[in-house]
Formats: sequence, structure tokens, C-alpha cells
Amino acid sequence: MIDISKLTIQSLNKHLKDGDFSVRELAEVYLENIKNKNPDVNAYLEIYSDVLEQADVIDKKIKAGDIKPLSGLPIAIKDNILIDGRVATSASKILKGYVAPYDATVIKKLKEQDVLFLGRANMDEFAMGGSTENSVFGVTKNPIDLSRVAGGSSGGSVAAVSMDGALASLGSDTGGSVRQPSSFCGVVGLKPTYGGVSRYGLMAMGSSLDVIGPITKTVTDSEILFNAIKGQDPMDSTTYGEGIYSQREVKSKMVVGVPYHVLENGGLSDKVRKNFDESIEKLRSLGYEIKEIKLPNIEYSLAVYYILMPAEVSSNLARFDGVRFGLHVDGDNLLQDYLKTKGQGFGQEVRRRILIGTYVLSAGYADAYYNKALVLRQKISEDFEKAFSEVDIIVTPTTPGPAFKIGEKINDPLSLYLEDVFTVPANIVGIPAISVPSGSVEEEGVSLPLGLQIMAPHNSEKILFEVGKKLLNE
Ligand code: GLN
Repeated sequence: MIDISKLTIQSLNKHLKDGDFSVRELAEVYLENIKNKNPDVNAYLEIYSDVLEQADVIDKKIKAGDIKPLSGLPIAIKDNILIDGRVATSASKILKGYVAPYDATVIKKLKEQDVLFLGRANMDEFAMGGSTENSVFGVTKNPIDLSRVAGGSSGGSVAAVSMDGALASLGSDTGGSVRQPSSFCGVVGLKPTYGGVSRYGLMAMGSSLDVIGPITKTVTDSEILFNAIKGQDPMDSTTYGEGIYSQREVKSKMVVGVPYHVLENGGLSDKVRKNFDESIEKLRSLGYEIKEIKLPNIEYSLAVYYILMPAEVSSNLARFDGVRFGLHVDGDNLLQDYLKTKGQGFGQEVRRRILIGTYVLSAGYADAYYNKALVLRQKISEDFEKAFSEVDIIVTPTTPGPAFKIGEKINDPLSLYLEDVFTVPANIVGIPAISVPSGSVEEEGVSLPLGLQIMAPHNSEKILFEVGKKLLNE
């Protein structure tokens, strides 16, 4: 019997090389586990019917000596990333039954590596949310405590990995959607540098913030998967090539910046604060120098994010007009078609953001909101630039607390937006950030995982992996 709870991408490759088991045998174990757990967790919206056929094709190649670092990797893909010929809905009614006409660049790269696509992972509708409660296909539950959310918006992708329903997955991160659920479910989630991974074939939310990121059980696996999907792409002009950013060196004695003043605004409980202080002590004991830093404008991050992101959402989602994609509802004339399709196709949170975005961009308000937010975005970037001239990495908790109860925050959007307080700055500035498990807190007798967020300068993911591996003893 294959023990998938111990498996990593790294060890899988060795097992397959040694002929310990076939990809088909591995696929059967995962499918069985998914069959047992998914009805409760709802991580997957669809398990592909051709998983075993895919496995046989890969096994044949391996037998012929053609084995790649990711061969046979059982992976889950967030429902907003296109796979040619397969359904992709962004967990929205408006895209029900939509079949992708091409492969996203990340998928093309994974196909070249012979990965095993298990299925389509649940998410908040169009990636808007932090609990996967905005999916029209039902909430994804936290595999560690089924009364709690898995986080979001990549809740399905993360829960799939956390319940051993996939060895790794891809999510998207616009304001924390890879890192926050990873922290809630005890796995590793990376938001790469903006432009480090192609967005071609990712359904756009906030185009100046969106990035696809890997979700894995170990930091080593995060690095392997990131290296497989990254790189400049002619289909996405915001991807960058070599030499654009001066990459930071991994030094043996690095300086860790801690913006303690940010923690005061985060609403941390004593238990979470204690967990964070323990992480700092661990870093110190690993030989890192700890330095308090100030990021004077970071307190505006949430306000900036919740203006820029809806502005971009409102223009990106204009394309779902009932004519080109998915749902179409007939009205008396073209305008009524649009109104009815969008009114019935989009959920409440998506409509809220389109309305806010349209408002902040409208003549008369653009200067007061959108343009002011752009100015502050620049200020926040300058704060980070200055900080990174003194320190190598910056750490914060990933989230203000552990996974919350299903239904606890969904009727209070502001309290849900506050969950993103530590994660949105990295998206605003475009720097890479990783969430690594940092221990747990006890709530109602259950041990709930927490995450430590590590941020580095643009294109310096290497440093995140280095520090992450040290923290997790990999
Ligand atoms: N929770 C954030 C939001 O609701 C982040 C979403 C994301 O990163 N896609 O916008």
C-alpha cells in the first residue's frame, strides 16, 4: 500500500524511478481517498473521468525511460485556470458548462512534464472572497475541522492537498488567495513575484495583482513546482525575463525585518501573537538577525486594495455579457439580455465588487478614489523598497487568526476583508510571499494550524525557499 500522507513531489520521483509503484497504482490510491473525503470537504467540483487513462499514458512513457521531475504528479487545478477541452467555471453560475478552448501557459508547461490532472478545485466565485463560501457550488470545508472554512479563494485547491486528495495544486493569489487558505489548512502556499508566472489562461480578477501560485506540503515541493511553471511568456506581456530585477543573493547571515506596528492593526489574539513571537525566536535561533522595521504607509493597504481590485474587476468582468461565454438569459432587447444574464449569473459578492469598481472609476470619483489609491500604491512600494535596503526578508503572520467557522463572517463583508490585512501588501507591491506552517492554536479542543508569511524583494523567491526550508527542517 502506498502511504500518500508521507509522499512529496521529490520522493514520488524517486519511487517512480525505482519502480516501487506505477502511476496507475498511485492514481487509484488518490481516487479512493478523494471518494472517501470529498463528499464532506467539497474540495473538488469535478474529478476527471480519464485519470486512469492519463496514468497509463504516463506509465508507458516511464517504462520507455522517459521520466521527468514532475512525471505522474497528482495535481488539482483551481477552477479559474483553463485546460483545453475541460470545463472551467470560476465557481460561477455565469460560466456553467463553459469548456476551455485552450491551455493556460502553466497547464501547457505541466502537460510537458507529464503531470496527472485529477480534477477541478472549488473556489470563491471569480476568486472573490476569503472562505470559499462565495462558490455557487457550496463551501469547501476545512479538512482539519469540518465546522470551519478552508479559507479562500483557493479553498478547494488547498483542501485537496491538505486532505491528501492531491500531492500539489495550483491556485491564484490576488490579495492572499493562495497564502490565507494554506495557513488555515497547514500547507505551504506561494504567491510568486507579479509577472513571474504567466497569467495567460487564468480568468482575470485584478490584472495588476493576479498571480498563479503552487500549493504543496513542503517548501522543497513549492520550489520544484514554482520552477516548473515560472518564466517569461509571449502570451502575457507582464511576465518578465532574466535581468529585469536584480535578484537578491541567499546569504548565510540574513536580516529579518519585523514590522511590529503592523501587528497592532491586525487584531491578533494573544495566542496568535505568541505563535508569531515563537517563530521570530526560531528564526533568531537559526542564526538570523532580527530587526524592527517601519512601513509607514502599509496601514492604507486594505483601502488601496479594495479600490484598485474592484476597479479592475469591474472592467475584467464586463466580458461576461451572455453573448460570448456561458449563461445567456433572453430579455426583450440587447440591454435586457445583458441585465438579466449578469443579474442572474453573478453572485452577490461579485455584483458588489463590480458596483464598487464602476463607482470608483466613474467621472468625478476617479480622482478621489482610483487615482488616490494609485498614488498610495506607489508610496507603499517605496516603503518596501526602503525596508529591503536594510533587511533581506520581512515576516508577518499570514492571517490575524486561524480558520473561522463556516457562516461566521459571510454576512459581514468588512470583517472578511480585514482577514487580508497581512497578505494584500505583497500583491500591491508585486513582491513574492510564502506562507509556511508555524504551529497551531487550540480552539474548542481542536488544534488549528497557523502560518508565517515571509516576503522577499521582487524575483527573490530563492530566499523564501531557503528560509522556509530552514524553518521546517527540510
Ligand atoms: N480575500 C481577498 C479578496 O476577497 C483575496 C482574493 C484573492 O486573492 N483572489 O479579494
